[in-house]
Amino acid sequence: MGEIRLVRIGGKRCVRPLLVFVFFSVAGCASQTTISKPRPQGIYHVVTPGETLFRIGKAYGLTYQELARVNGIKDAGQIRVGQRIFIPGATRPLPVETITPAEPAPAAPVLPEPGFETFLWPVNGTINSGFGPRGSSFHDGIDIAAPEGTPILAIEAGEVIYSDQLRGYGNMVIVRHAGGIVSVYAHNEANLVREGQTVARGEVVARVGSTGRVSGPHLHFEIRRNNTAEDPLRYLPQLCCVTASDNVSPKN
Ligand SMILES: [Zn+2]
Repeated sequence: MGEIRLVRIGGKRCVRPLLVFVFFSVAGCASQTTISKPRPQGIYHVVTPGETLFRIGKAYGLTYQELARVNGIKDAGQIRVGQRIFIPGATRPLPVETITPAEPAPAAPVLPEPGFETFLWPVNGTINSGFGPRGSSFHDGIDIAAPEGTPILAIEAGEVIYSDQLRGYGNMVIVRHAGGIVSVYAHNEANLVREGQTVARGEVVARVGSTGRVSGPHLHFEIRRNNTAEDPLRYLPQLCCVTASDNVSPKN
């Protein structure tokens, strides 16, 4: 935002912020010959914890779709604390209500903090070991058995922060997502992404394998929130055809 672009209208150049161009394209500068910086017709709202685009929009009398469009936000759920959101037409910052019990459900997912059932399953397969105590140790994730070579999908958009081998885990990919969430994909036959690469939700990051300390091909999958392993089943959509409890045997 605030990006200055040169646009050529009627053979004359004029400068105006892209934002103003998008929103106030009627207020043209085609006949102007002088270059001046237009005043922004709005303010920046800085996102604080608990706020969503939906609620910010509500505070300023705008829809979250408008805010997403004017700010170039593709995924309304991906705003983060500290982010500056341009509010067209606003003259001063307004408080944003973060707890509204009677709030109607928004039409689109609004998830500044990833909630339940927001992620994709990384592979289709059978869970043959669940999260929790396992013998004398603790299983930090779930094991999903699937044929060697099955594509492993990024559960959500993010940045690859690890793609290498690790003792015991074999080939492993770690992706960092919004909201302090990290997803871990291990025992891969091959990693298909590099560190530093951004991945889209559903992008293939690796293929199922049996590298590391395993007895057969499967994906060892973890979700860590603020560096603590949590039960991935709490974050994944419910299985369609078999209940998780039928399928999970934590003592495996
Ligand atoms: Zn495992």
